[in-house]
Amino acid sequence: MPEEIANVVIIGGGVVGTAIAAELSRDIDDVFLLEAMPRLGLGASSRNSGVIHAGIYYRPGSLKAFHCVRGARMIYEFCAEHDIPHQRIGKLIVADSLEDLGRLEELKKRGDENGVEGLRIVDRGFIREREPNVVSPVAIYSPNTGILEPEELVKALARTAQANGAYILTDTRMTGARINGDSILIRTQREEFLARTVINAAGLYADDVAGMFGYGKYRIHPCRGEYAELPVSRSGIVNGLVYPLPMPSGHGLGVHYTKNMAGRVLLGPNARYVKSREDYEDDRADLSTFYESASVITPCLKPEDLRLSYTGIRARLLPEEDHSFADFVIERDPQTNSVIHLIGIESPGLTSALSIAKSVAQMINK
Ligand SMILES: Cc1cc2nc3c(=O)[nH]c(=O)nc-3n(C[C@H](O)[C@H](O)[C@H](O)COP(=O)(O)OP(=O)(O)OC[C@H]3O[C@@H](n4cnc5c(N)ncnc54)[C@H](O)[C@@H]3O)c2cc1C
Repeated sequence: MPEEIANVVIIGGGVVGTAIAAELSRDIDDVFLLEAMPRLGLGASSRNSGVIHAGIYYRPGSLKAFHCVRGARMIYEFCAEHDIPHQRIGKLIVADSLEDLGRLEELKKRGDENGVEGLRIVDRGFIREREPNVVSPVAIYSPNTGILEPEELVKALARTAQANGAYILTDTRMTGARINGDSILIRTQREEFLARTVINAAGLYADDVAGMFGYGKYRIHPCRGEYAELPVSRSGIVNGLVYPLPMPSGHGLGVHYTKNMAGRVLLGPNARYVKSREDYEDDRADLSTFYESASVITPCLKPEDLRLSYTGIRARLLPEEDHSFADFVIERDPQTNSVIHLIGIESPGLTSALSIAKSVAQMINK
């Protein structure tokens, strides 16, 4: 049994856990961040689109809407302060035909309700001026959507946490927990920790970690998002972010064009439920499926332009057949009040990380 008690132990060193470590260590001593992998941010936090979402899509009043809008503001400030490569590049959500104008207007109204600034419906002339290769009669323009380098964000958060005195332990996987009077014993494959407060930010495994505390309410259904990419010679096909209207299934934002900070153009992600949370590469989608979706937006795209790129896995709270809305879960363990679980932190989790960290700090200070 360890002799010292840590004030806070955070499980999971993705962008969310690392943001929480940076935030809490400003005012609290003895904050520990335990990460199973050899480096921070190797999970969803480095396998995403790197988009700073504005907060258009999410149900008004939801945690996703709140944290995305507040988190986007916080992330722009943090990136500027810490020299993290980022760009307020802007985004178009394009309709195939004028018949979809009603759906665009509805989406814009939702964004307005969520407090997203600067959204407007734009016509063919505006679209063509920004994106000459995009064929669409009408779109939503979101000037505050941006891009960043997610790995650099995680590194800057880790530096901030360490400068504040937090301890970051990689290669340290939590394997079990036991309540020990007023404190909690955390077992890892290396050593044991005693903690006053535990934050579960284990991403795809947050339901398993909750299970170690006997909390089995939530189950994660891994949903893979695969990308295709274009060669550098075709990276001028779009200038910014170009999205279709979201998929009616609710399983993703639709295969879209993303330009990353290196200027590379990505297409994706699709949404495919997989059995294993580690199944990043088996049975990859055919490139033709990306081509079919993207060529509607940019008819000049050629099938031979596409190559398979990386994949990521979403920590979905709903199974494939359930098309309803699932919000982020940020709640105290019903049996052990000093444990806070963050479960189902899928998109816009990258954008939301700093805002989620601020809320977790408020929960602890109460
Ligand atoms: C394809 C895709 C595209 C996306 N695009 C965007 C986007 O453009 N914009 C946006 O805002 N969001 C996006 N997201 C969502 C965003 O990437 C995630 O919400 C965010 O990265 C979640 O961060 P996290 O720290 O919760 O999880 P993770 O990054 O998965 O971190 C969890 C960490 O916990 C560790 N861990 C697990 N179990 C244990 C254990 N027992 N002990 C110790 N450590 C453990 C893991 O190794 C991992 O490093 C996307 C996600 C995907 C999959």
